Amino acid sequence: MNKQKERKIRRITKIRIWPRVLGALCVFLLFHVLLVALVLAYASSVASSKIENMMSDCSEVADYMDSFEYGLNDNRFGGLMQIRPEIVSAGYLDEDYNVVSSFGKKSVDTTEYAHLANIENDLLDANVYVEKAGAHFFSFDGADIEMKSEQLLFDITVSEVNNDDADWFNILELARKSPKELRSRELLGTNVIFVFENDVKDGYSVIVYRFRFVPMDFISMLIFVIALMAVFLLLMLYQLFSIIRLFMDKRTAYDALYTDMVTGGGNELSFYKDAEKILRKNKNTPYAMVHLRLEKHKGLLACYGVKWVEELDEMIYETINKTLKKRKEVHARMNNGDFAVLMRYEDSSKLNDRVRSLMNSLSAEIVDQKLFFSAGICPVLYYKDDVKSLYNNASLARSYVKDENAEEIKWYNKEIEDEQLWERKVEGEMENAMQTGQFEMFLQPKYTTGGEVLGGAEALVRWRHPQDGLIPPGKFIPIFEKNGFILKLDDYMITEVAKTQAKWLSEGKKLVPISVNVSRAHFMKKDIAEHIRDIVDRYNVPHEVVELELTESAFFDDKKTLIDVVRKMREYGFPVSMDDFGSGYSSLNSLKEIPLDVLKLDAEFFRGEDVGDRGRLIVSEIIELAKTLGMHIVAEGIETRTQVDFLKDLECDLIQGYIFAKPMPINEFETKHLNTLMA
Ligand code: C2E
Ligand code: CA
Ligand code: CA
Repeated sequence: MNKQKERKIRRITKIRIWPRVLGALCVFLLFHVLLVALVLAYASSVASSKIENMMSDCSEVADYMDSFEYGLNDNRFGGLMQIRPEIVSAGYLDEDYNVVSSFGKKSVDTTEYAHLANIENDLLDANVYVEKAGAHFFSFDGADIEMKSEQLLFDITVSEVNNDDADWFNILELARKSPKELRSRELLGTNVIFVFENDVKDGYSVIVYRFRFVPMDFISMLIFVIALMAVFLLLMLYQLFSIIRLFMDKRTAYDALYTDMVTGGGNELSFYKDAEKILRKNKNTPYAMVHLRLEKHKGLLACYGVKWVEELDEMIYETINKTLKKRKEVHARMNNGDFAVLMRYEDSSKLNDRVRSLMNSLSAEIVDQKLFFSAGICPVLYYKDDVKSLYNNASLARSYVKDENAEEIKWYNKEIEDEQLWERKVEGEMENAMQTGQFEMFLQPKYTTGGEVLGGAEALVRWRHPQDGLIPPGKFIPIFEKNGFILKLDDYMITEVAKTQAKWLSEGKKLVPISVNVSRAHFMKKDIAEHIRDIVDRYNVPHEVVELELTESAFFDDKKTLIDVVRKMREYGFPVSMDDFGSGYSSLNSLKEIPLDVLKLDAEFFRGEDVGDRGRLIVSEIIELAKTLGMHIVAEGIETRTQVDFLKDLECDLIQGYIFAKPMPINEFETKHLNTLMA
């Protein structure tokens, strides 16, 4: 899976749902608090508008009393008010608070103003009627109606109140005829002037209000609340929907991240996660990490196709599954043909038998195809490492199985552990070693078969370690090749070769080509030829004395790039040789395709006391072929006189081997070959 994609999916799987649910609940609660607050605010705003109306009524009454055209003369008093549902009663008190005149459903029966406020009224209805003799006029918008005492003028039914557009003339007509037929809503909001004929001059006009919320208030409040609730409900639904979606996304992401598409079970990530959980839970129970490999996986793919191999992988997964203890052991398909299994570990022979019988039953699963399995086991006696390293250790142990047909089980042991420790030590020290000049160039001479004189040399690195002494390259080059440090080391060696040749040149010595190893890692860079040319040119050394050795394995990666690079190297004048020819991947084809100057025959060709007729035949044919292609031949690892004679017969050009000399420090090389080197 693409790393970025994996990171994204991981992020989704890490999202926690419960804080969102909690958040939604909090919002829900908060909303209700807010709703109550808003309702209270609304109610208080309604109340305050009512108070405002009341105040304006009072001032209007006062104003009217002052300017009333009927005037406050000796025997007439008047009042003005707007008929509202809140009005309970109204009246006029004399200066001793005696009621002069009032209207309302209940008469004002107290002389105390304060008591007026406590009048209990039916909240729904208020009747306006002239109660006392002397209140002769009741005027609607200036039109006087003469009233008889004690006559009910009209009823106000508050619950019906809502209309401001009453037709007043019509109402007056009605009032004249039958005031009872007047509907309160027709009068609501209208100014009513009341005039009392009376002897009392000074007094108080009183309107008794009562705060109350009429149905209209409640209806508007209800609409307000419903609207708010609807908005909130929509928001909550949205939130709920997004939580559900997130939950589903999380599940999908989880599946994508932790499911193996081939077996349908857990994948590598899920294995690490589950194995860690099991190990953490059972800290005192011994476990073992097993790396099980189906050998020749690539070959099976090539022969039977992807579908068949995937079905095979699925079958292997299922078969392993059947042998595991549920929830106490776990497994997964890791790579092509690789399976990780975390197993309980009672003792080594029991576990070995268990893995062996698993391998046997897996091999027997397919009748017409022999399957080969190998395994690496790393015991987890005390869980301290991370699961990945444990699996890595099991894999490392398995990598010691050299024969893919052997069906071997290898255990992670002290030797492997030491190797790992060594690797870590090398990695920790390599940079400092480079800076402090601990890497040293040794030279191994190459001799001509003809006169057995110096014909060239190979630069080979040694690590002069302050504590460990001289370390051979076999102990650190493979590590550098893995971690990329080989690029720095090779650059250093090329520089050393150029520097040495420059020094000898300046001393007037005769130069012979010195070959230097160029690791395959360099071929990742397209400008490697220019890079090497620039290094050598810094020392003004002729290119033909710096030979570049490439190993055959480099020829397997990207042939086209390699051919281009080799061509450029040769264009710049560097002789190029193929190292270790015949060691493993030998392919006569590469000789045909890649233009090279030198072929270095691997020591393998000459191993053993007697190479045999077939061996001789092969070597002579190769030399013949190389010569036809215009290449020079160097034979490596030559240790005996017989080998030298044999190579002499075949007109091999150069011999590099212990028979003549081992790799040596430069000063030794100079001393030993000083005469030869003199121009
Ligand atoms: P190589 O390039 O094949 O170098 C030849 C190896 O064979 C050298 O081992 C040399 O000492 C050894 N040898 C030569 N003649 C004989 C012989 O007669 N008998 C036996 N038994 N061995 C002989 P060395 O120096 O230990 O290097 C091992 C390998 O390390 C080299 O194999 C090369 O692949 C790598 N290496 C060494 N130096 C460098 C370097 O500077 N850069 C890179 N990339 N690799 C290097
Ligand atoms: Ca070499
Ligand atoms: Ca070699």
